[in-house]
Amino acid sequence: MTPETPETPETPHAPHTTGTRQADGGGYTGHVEPGGAPDVRELPALTIRKMAVSAMHNNVYLLSCVASGEQLLIDAADEADRILELMAVGGTGLGTVVTTHEHWDHVRALAQVVATTGATTVAGTDDAEALPVPVDVRVGQGDTVTFGAITLEVVHLRGHTPGGIALAYTDPHGHCHLFTGDSLFPGGVGNTKNEGQHFDTLIDDVTQRVFGVYDDDTWFYPGHGDDSTLGAERPHLDEWRRRGW
Ligand SMILES: [Zn+2]
Repeated sequence: MTPETPETPETPHAPHTTGTRQADGGGYTGHVEPGGAPDVRELPALTIRKMAVSAMHNNVYLLSCVASGEQLLIDAADEADRILELMAVGGTGLGTVVTTHEHWDHVRALAQVVATTGATTVAGTDDAEALPVPVDVRVGQGDTVTFGAITLEVVHLRGHTPGGIALAYTDPHGHCHLFTGDSLFPGGVGNTKNEGQHFDTLIDDVTQRVFGVYDDDTWFYPGHGDDSTLGAERPHLDEWRRRGW
C-alpha cells in the first residue's frame, strides 16, 4: 500500500531562506519520512529526488538528467511501486540502478525495478556477487558512472561491507553532492559491529577518500536518515577514530 502523500507536506524543517528560489534547490532539506513525500533538489543540470522507504527508513535517490531526461536510481531499497511512481514523475524511464552495498535492506525492490525497467545494474565489485540480481557493471575506486550528461565518480569505501561505494556528482555551478550509502552518516561512519566488518578500514577510507578529497561544502546523502555536509562532520573525525565507531 502506498499512503497518500500530501501535495504540500508540513515543513518543520524549512530552511532559513528568504527571497527567490536559488539554483541550488532552495527549500531542499533532505528530511523525509517513510510513506511521506519525496524531497526534491533542482540543480541546473541534475534533479535529485530523495524518498524514504520501509520501517528501516532506507533512502532511495532518483537522479534525473535535466538535459536528456535520463535517470539513475541509487538503492532500490524497498517499495518498488513507489520507486516506479517516482521514476514516472522524474523523467524518461530508468536506465541505471546503482546499489551502494550488498545489505538486504538496500536491495529489496531491486529485482522488481530491474524487471520492470530493464535498467542496467551497477555495484561495487566486491559486493556484486551478493546481490539478488546479476550485476552488469562492477565498479571500484576511481571509476565513473555516466547517464545522460551527468557523470558520477565512484568512491570505494571498505569496512561496512567489502564493496561499498559512494557516488560523487560535482556540480559545475555549485558544490559536490556525495551519496554515501551506509559508509558515512551525520555523526559517524557506518556500523562495523558485525562479523566481517572493519572499523579501522572504514575510518581510513572515509578519512582519505572522502574527507581527503572533497571540500567542506560537499553535501552528503546517506543510506538512512538526514543529510549533512563534510564541513559539519570534519571536526569530529578524530573523535570518531578515538571512540572506535
Ligand atoms: Zn548497510
